[in-house]
Amino acid sequence: MTIGTVYLVGAGPGDPGLITVKGLALVQRADVIIHDRLIPHELLSEARPDAEIIDAGKAQHDHRIPQSQINALLVEKAREGKQVVRLKGGDPFVFGRGGEEALYCHEAGVPFIVVPGVTSAVAVPAYAGIPVTDRTLASAFTVFTGHENPTKPESAIDYPALVAAARAGTLVMLMGVTYLGQIAESLLAAGLDGDIPAACIESGTLPAQRVIEGTLGTIADLAAAADVQSPALFVVGQVVTLRRAGIAWFGD
Ligand code: SAH
Repeated sequence: MTIGTVYLVGAGPGDPGLITVKGLALVQRADVIIHDRLIPHELLSEARPDAEIIDAGKAQHDHRIPQSQINALLVEKAREGKQVVRLKGGDPFVFGRGGEEALYCHEAGVPFIVVPGVTSAVAVPAYAGIPVTDRTLASAFTVFTGHENPTKPESAIDYPALVAAARAGTLVMLMGVTYLGQIAESLLAAGLDGDIPAACIESGTLPAQRVIEGTLGTIADLAAAADVQSPALFVVGQVVTLRRAGIAWFGD
C-alpha cells in the first residue's frame, strides 16, 4: 500500500468563496478531512459523500483535541494510504500551527503539501474597507498575536517594537481580543499616540461582519460596549480612515 499525502490547506477567513482553486479541488478529492473550528463550514459539503470528516476544533470535555493528537492523526491516516486534507482557517502558516504539523509529517516520513490560504490578517481588514498598506499612509504592516501562551513566563509581545512598527505603518492583531484593553494600554504606555485610528472587526468577510471604529485610546471601551466576540481582529493605523473615505464596501 502506498502512503497517502497530507495537504495543509488554507480555507480562507470565512467567506467560502475565498478558498483557492487548488484548495477546493483537494477538499473535493480528499479521503479524510481534518478541520479546525474556524473554517467556512459550507466547504465541507464539497467533500465526497464517503469522505471521513473529523472536527479537530471540537471541544471534548472542555478541551480541543490536543495538537499532539492532531499530528498523530494526520500521520496515522496517511499511513493507511489516505489522502488527508488538514483544513485550517485563513492561511495554515499564519498563527495556524501548520509549521508544527508539517515538521511532524517530515519527521514521520509522511509526504505533505502546503496550500496557502487567504489570511484573515489581510482579508478581514479588506472586507472592512481598510487596505493594510497605502502609498501615503502606511509603507509596512505588522501582524502580531495578542494571545499570550499561558505557559510562557513573561509577555511575548515586544511593545516597543510594535510602537516603532506602528509609526511606519499598520498593526494587525490576531487573537486575544479579550485582552484588547490590556494590549491597548500597553501600546499607549510604550509611547503610541492615543489618537491613532483603530478598528476592531468581528466575523470579518461573513454576513455577520461588524466593524467598531475608534482610536487607540477609545477602541477597547467601544469594543467592550459592543460586546465583540471571537473571531475578531484589531487594526491600528491611519489606513483605518480610508474606510470612511469611501472604501467601506461590504456590509455597511
Ligand atoms: N491562520 C489564520 C489565523 C488563525 S488565528 C489566518 O491566516 O487567518 C485565529 C484568529 O484569526 C482569530 O482569533 C481572529 O483574530 C482572526 N480571525 C480569523 N478569522 C476571522 C474573521 N472572520 N474575522 C475576524 N478575525 C478573524
